[in-house]
Amino acid sequence: MASNNVAQFATELKMPADLLLTQLRAAGVEKSSASDILSKEDKDKLLGHLRRSHGVAPDAEKKKITLMRKETTEIKQADSSGKSRTIQVEVRKKRTFVKRDEPTEEVAAEEAPAPVVDEAEQARRVEEAQRQAELIARQEAELREKQERLAQMEEERLAQERAAREAEVAAAREAAALQAAQKDKPVQIDAAAVEQEQERKRAAEVVAKAAAERAAAADRARRAVAEEVAQIKAMMSQPRRVVKAPEPAPAPVAKAAPEGTLHKPADKKPAEKKDEKKPAVADKKSIKSANVSSTWQDDARKRAGGLKTRGPTGGGGRDGWRSGPRGRRSHGDDRDTNFQAPVEAVIKDVHVPETITVAELAHKMAVKASEVIKHLMKLGQMVTINQVLDQETAMILVEEMGHRAHAAKLDDPEAMLVEGDEHADVEALPRAPVVTVMGHVDHGKTSLLDYIRRTKVATGEAGGITQHIGAYHVETPRGMITFLDTPGHEAFTAMRARGAKATDIVILVVAADDGVMPQTREAIAHAKAAGVPMVVAINKIDKPGANMDRVKTELVAEQVLPEEYGGDTPFVPVSAKTGEGIDSLLENVLLQAEVLELTAPVEAPARGLVIEAKLDKGRGPVATVLITSGTLKRGDIVLAGSSYGRVRAMLDETGKPVTEAGPSIPVEIQGLTDVPAAGEDVMVMTDERKAREIALFRQGKFRDVKLAKQQAAKLENMFEQMAEGEVKNMPLIIKTDVQGSQEALVSSMNKLSTGEVRVQIVHAAVGGISESDVNLALASKAVIIGFNTRADASARKLAESNGIDIRYYNIIYDAIDDVKAAMSGMLAPEKREQSLGLVEIRQVFLVSKVGAIAGCYVLEGLVRRGAMVRLLRDNVVLWTGELDSLKRFKDDVKEVKAGFECGLSLKNFNDIKEGDQLEVFEVQEVARTL
Ligand code: GDP
Repeated sequence: MASNNVAQFATELKMPADLLLTQLRAAGVEKSSASDILSKEDKDKLLGHLRRSHGVAPDAEKKKITLMRKETTEIKQADSSGKSRTIQVEVRKKRTFVKRDEPTEEVAAEEAPAPVVDEAEQARRVEEAQRQAELIARQEAELREKQERLAQMEEERLAQERAAREAEVAAAREAAALQAAQKDKPVQIDAAAVEQEQERKRAAEVVAKAAAERAAAADRARRAVAEEVAQIKAMMSQPRRVVKAPEPAPAPVAKAAPEGTLHKPADKKPAEKKDEKKPAVADKKSIKSANVSSTWQDDARKRAGGLKTRGPTGGGGRDGWRSGPRGRRSHGDDRDTNFQAPVEAVIKDVHVPETITVAELAHKMAVKASEVIKHLMKLGQMVTINQVLDQETAMILVEEMGHRAHAAKLDDPEAMLVEGDEHADVEALPRAPVVTVMGHVDHGKTSLLDYIRRTKVATGEAGGITQHIGAYHVETPRGMITFLDTPGHEAFTAMRARGAKATDIVILVVAADDGVMPQTREAIAHAKAAGVPMVVAINKIDKPGANMDRVKTELVAEQVLPEEYGGDTPFVPVSAKTGEGIDSLLENVLLQAEVLELTAPVEAPARGLVIEAKLDKGRGPVATVLITSGTLKRGDIVLAGSSYGRVRAMLDETGKPVTEAGPSIPVEIQGLTDVPAAGEDVMVMTDERKAREIALFRQGKFRDVKLAKQQAAKLENMFEQMAEGEVKNMPLIIKTDVQGSQEALVSSMNKLSTGEVRVQIVHAAVGGISESDVNLALASKAVIIGFNTRADASARKLAESNGIDIRYYNIIYDAIDDVKAAMSGMLAPEKREQSLGLVEIRQVFLVSKVGAIAGCYVLEGLVRRGAMVRLLRDNVVLWTGELDSLKRFKDDVKEVKAGFECGLSLKNFNDIKEGDQLEVFEVQEVARTL
């Protein structure tokens, strides 16, 4: 490239040598011919001249220009959900042009004239060279301008920095001034020097770095953009959640703009970067904080509102207070929405115990209880969540719901009750006897009890006390006696009927002036059936008509033998009026008790019996409980039949609160969930859950038990029970219209007894069948035979509800045949009498030719034309036959229902009286089923 003389250089420049010589001369290089040697200095001179002539400084600084270009493109792409999205991609490009020395030389060389061909050609070349020179000059001018601009910007930046630094320095100076006021000046000088030095260094660094990074930056930018596009594309093909946070995207863009350029200060970049990145993180925070603040604001608002509108709504502050946890809960909800339920059904092995509540079963199958209830509804059972299901039903249900059911081991909660044995080792101590007073009406039961209570319980208390509960205990010099103050047989038998033996001793009250009466006999029957020893109190001995011997004789006839006749029943003459013999009576009672050797553990969980219970308006279910063993304490959890609860309060017989009660002490307890029935067992449980379980189980079982009971007392079932070994004797209660038929029936029945089965006449008496008879039948599982007598309304109801079989006969042989058949299991098809209704005769009209017409009122059920009727007078059957006519207001009618009046006549029977009752019935023959 180096050219040695003018001609060569002109050739290089493609211009004529003459023109070059002229230019050289103009430049001050004296060259006369084309063959003259040109040195480098000469060339430089020429260049300098040319530059000057074109207005370009010959030593113009070698500068660079940086061009920035911003390109925004849009990418359209459909995501997985099918939505098309537009993403804007911004690509920033920076290109720096640096003017190098060589091209200038080249350009200068090009300017050198080429060898001359001709004048015109030379002139053209010169023009061209000039044009080129001009072009170069223009470019150079542009370049300079840009450089100046950049330099200006840089200066501005530096000025800013300087200002900032000055501020810093000023601050430092101030600090220093504070420390040492005298050293103020040097600090200032030093600071200025350091500042200038730093500035210089920074400028040099900037230039050097820029050169080094230029090439790399372009490459990096390209790669970054490619990368970015690839990333964006990848993101687009992913689900939305990922698209949401395209955090990596801004980073390469930021990188694409190299640090340290003049265009953008280096230290500004990272700051920007941070700004871009931050929102991703900060957004979440800001959302959270927005939530939080909104809750707070809500709270504040609510509180404010609460204050303003407090009254009907009230508690605004509390609502707000609660909104905190609510907010937290919503997080959980978010999580829930992400949760996906397992699609495949899980088949579980469910072990079903003998009884299980709906809730427990649902838990075992891991389903909601409502599901179980729904399925049970489908199976035709309406149940509640706490209802106890039997094993069979539960297993069917489990299979129905697609799980495998296994019968678990016997888990009868009742079995748990045997736990009482745990306390068997507790020493049993003597306890007070529990006494019930029985006897015929008006023989002085109440008077006797009153006298004892008045004199014994209320000793020292003026005016006596008010008795609160149906039992009380008395202290005598020889010991304590507990009286069950429910005179009559009902309570006694009602308890016995439930298998509860509350009474240890019976005091049979017989009035000395009246002797043995029907209820006396009943009482004897009850006591004997229960196997309870008796103490006979011959009352009213103060009365002039008292005849002790007659009473004794009558009692002997009833198989009650006084001790003096070799029997074991003490006879004590007393007077409830004067109090004579009462102490002796109590003494005898205690003597009997001693014989019985009554004991009970004291230091053990209590067991007892419900004597009576009621639903008190204010106190809820209230039960009088007689403790039979152990000690009942306040706060104990008790199970009473099918109810349970915690003993909240305990009152003694005088209404005083007590905290505990030992054996043979009656107390009134509160806190049960339900009203238990009299005679139900009470026991203390350690576990309330278990108590509840058993109570519910019993509630569920109640119906079955009732059904079983109904079965038990049916004559039809006697043989089966005998065969099962349940019954070895046939208990019967016989009620007849007259003494003669009673004796005949009893003796006939007794003759039926064989070696295997014995007929046991529990009770036989003359008269209608009373409630007491039914209770006795219930207690002794007896069948009642009514010979020409009927049960009264209350007895009928009781018999119906307890499934007691009352069989009516009017022919002795029929009764004997039936019992015989029952004993041999050969009972003929049952002639079931279906009672239709009960009619009362209110008026009797005697019409000639027609006979007696009865004006009646239907008490129960209905009366139907052509039905069978029985005429009852004082519950004794007078006649059985058919209805002749049935009229209502002169019109013949088919039937008349309860609550209406009617007129009727009986076929071939006219002996009717006002007050008579007509039992309307139909006879159905039902084949016996086993
Ligand atoms: P309950 O029906 O068995 O309870 O008999 P009560 O206790 O109501 O007594 C019936 C009647 O007999 C009352 O008028 C009593 O005053 C009376 N009475 C009870 N005991 C005696 C007694 O020992 N002597 C006398 N003279 N009258 C008595």
